[in-house]
Amino acid sequence: MLNAVVVGAGPAGALLAYLLARRGVPVKLLERQTDFSREFRGEILMPSGIAALHEAGLRQPLDALPNLSFRTVELFRGARRVVAIPIDGFDPPPRVAPQPAMLEMIVAEAAKFPGFKLERGVTVRDLIYEKDRVMGVHADTLEGPRDFRGDFVIACDGRASAIRKRAALPEDRIMQGFDVVWGHVAGHFLDGRTARGYIGSGHLLILYPSPEGHMQIGWVIDKGTFGDIKKMGADGWINELAPHVSPDVRNFLVANKTGLAHPFLLDVICDRLREWTAPGLLLIGDAAHPMSPVGGQGINVALRDAVVTANHLGRALIMRSDEATLDFAARNIQAERWPEITTIQDMQQIAPRFVASNSLLSRVVTGAPTIAFAKIFLASYLARRLDPFLNGVTRVVMEQ
Ligand SMILES: Cc1cc2nc3c(=O)[nH]c(=O)nc-3n(C[C@H](O)[C@H](O)[C@H](O)COP(=O)(O)OP(=O)(O)OC[C@H]3O[C@@H](n4cnc5c(N)ncnc54)[C@H](O)[C@@H]3O)c2cc1C
Repeated sequence: MLNAVVVGAGPAGALLAYLLARRGVPVKLLERQTDFSREFRGEILMPSGIAALHEAGLRQPLDALPNLSFRTVELFRGARRVVAIPIDGFDPPPRVAPQPAMLEMIVAEAAKFPGFKLERGVTVRDLIYEKDRVMGVHADTLEGPRDFRGDFVIACDGRASAIRKRAALPEDRIMQGFDVVWGHVAGHFLDGRTARGYIGSGHLLILYPSPEGHMQIGWVIDKGTFGDIKKMGADGWINELAPHVSPDVRNFLVANKTGLAHPFLLDVICDRLREWTAPGLLLIGDAAHPMSPVGGQGINVALRDAVVTANHLGRALIMRSDEATLDFAARNIQAERWPEITTIQDMQQIAPRFVASNSLLSRVVTGAPTIAFAKIFLASYLARRLDPFLNGVTRVVMEQ
């Protein structure tokens, strides 16, 4: 039986390893962290990501995890609420599902299959090549250096992928002018099911409840200015935000500001490899195409990559295909995922131009009269414009 080495147990790697193991492929999943909760990871699951987990047969265990579905998204301009968008009509509605619990659930489900092995505390450093073909990886483990060999290597090691650097595949970067500062504040605000966005005048703040009992805050800042924000401290940060948010949020932040003392930077990058494959190797998820945070897409497209990868490569591995057939399967994965990734990444570039910029055009577009006018057409506007963010662009179905 041919076997696979999957590097990185984020959404892409964990789900892929589970799906391959379920199909009967022996798979080693190598993860640098020993504990999934050691870093803040994105946590918004869109219907497209939930559908991928449903296709994978994991909907029930997913629903059993702590999660929170939004009821309403409110958009504000300064102190004034411009529009409240009910979203509990979506089936399923977007939800906040903390990644550590989701990843633990996926690897626990994978461990039910005999071919699955998760190795934690393994940091992959380099690729093993034989006659120009990738045959495994060199890694540092808690016990020292070790090699992991496999018939195919799938890199799911995220936005700072070591494998991407080693493979030196050509990439196209889409320059981003902003970063996001994340922080959380203990306690719930409003009904615990409402998310808010404060837009306009060169500012954007989002605020949403987490099932872990806090409010998550994301503040869009000019790229490279995180050092200044950190120096401000929680009081300085609140003073800076105060003119741009409504008094209820300001008071909430002042009363619960301790969490803001530890802001966390999301250095926004958005790019895509032109080639996701090399002989014996495939990259998926953030390793192949880190997404802009606009529209909360990263986890969702990573899960969808995993389903498509399990279809093509799973089949080729089970059938003990020759090297050329395995590489062909890998190229088909990129071909199937490319339209969705490029469409969504291109759409992600539109909003920041208007929302976080302070140009005259953006002030008109995000101005109250324009938004009030848009409200009239909101239902159909949302259905058309946001559908790729909610449901994806292509159909992703698990092969039986
Ligand atoms: C602060 C923040 C907020 C975000 N918010 C959202 C959101 O709300 N919604 C959303 O959809 N997306 C969000 N994202 C993006 C989302 O988290 C990623 O797009 C998604 O997790 C990508 O999944 P992945 O499996 O490709 O990579 P990752 O989730 O990055 O997983 C990569 C895994 O590989 C491991 N790894 C890395 N290097 C090595 C190595 N050398 N050897 C072994 N293991 C390695 C890492 O420890 C990690 O577990 C956010 C990201 C950040 C950083």
